[in-house]
Amino acid sequence: LLSLRGVRKSYGANVVLHDFSLDVAQGECVVLIGASGSGKSTLLRCVNLLEVVDDGVVELAGRDITDPRVNADQVRSGIGFVFQSYNLFPHLTVLDNITLAPIRVHGVAPPEARRRALAMLTRVGLAEKATAKPDELSGGQQQRAAIARAMVNNPQLLLLDEVTSALDPELVGEVLDLLRDLKREGMTMLVCTHEMSFAREVADRVCFLHQGRPLEIGPPAQVLDNPQEPRTREFLSRLR
Ligand code: ATP
Ligand code: MG
Repeated sequence: LLSLRGVRKSYGANVVLHDFSLDVAQGECVVLIGASGSGKSTLLRCVNLLEVVDDGVVELAGRDITDPRVNADQVRSGIGFVFQSYNLFPHLTVLDNITLAPIRVHGVAPPEARRRALAMLTRVGLAEKATAKPDELSGGQQQRAAIARAMVNNPQLLLLDEVTSALDPELVGEVLDLLRDLKREGMTMLVCTHEMSFAREVADRVCFLHQGRPLEIGPPAQVLDNPQEPRTREFLSRLR
């Protein structure tokens, strides 16, 4: 579904992604791990066209989305993106947060947008919070609402950047459970996380980034439990 080939991205003289190639198959969950600054978030931002790559190709469903002629808004409407901090608009209700983009950007009729948003809130277990404001929700509930917002357009691909790292430990589980369900339902996901337990349980493949390169890619049992690269071993040993 997603194919990165030879992607290069730099900020000034700082080359953040070097000749980066990675494929994510339909329905697959690939988890990106690596030290702070290794380029995980930048990679997701390149896929979502929040960054322009210097070189290389990013293909989504067979289409080169780095082609300057593509409509970035249209590409993004097929991709759900959730950040570390939930970025819900504080002045809008949960429901209005979710219907905003469908109505404003995608021209969905408001009643239909509300119907879809409510279905998605039910899906993430938050139907009763539809009219609440974000600050009336727990962190885990806010993050589930943000995931509902990312899913409301039926995206082909879900990009998740450290979606549990701002949460209290007791709230992490409910968000990971939701992601586990989405994966089971066939959602294709590219995920940055420090949650090795999630990587181990849900990832089809884990990709260890080191200084902007995919140093080791494979099933979790290989990369996490039997890493071949000394740098992967070193990274994992520092987590323990
Ligand atoms: P973390 O685990 O801390 O989230 P990361 O792997 O997501 O780290 P990135 O955010 O992708 O790392 O950053 C990779 C490098 O790119 C870092 O050296 C960072 O300073 C640099 N960088 C990221 N965004 C920008 C930007 N907008 N302008 C300049 N440099 C940037
Ligand atoms: Mg990051």
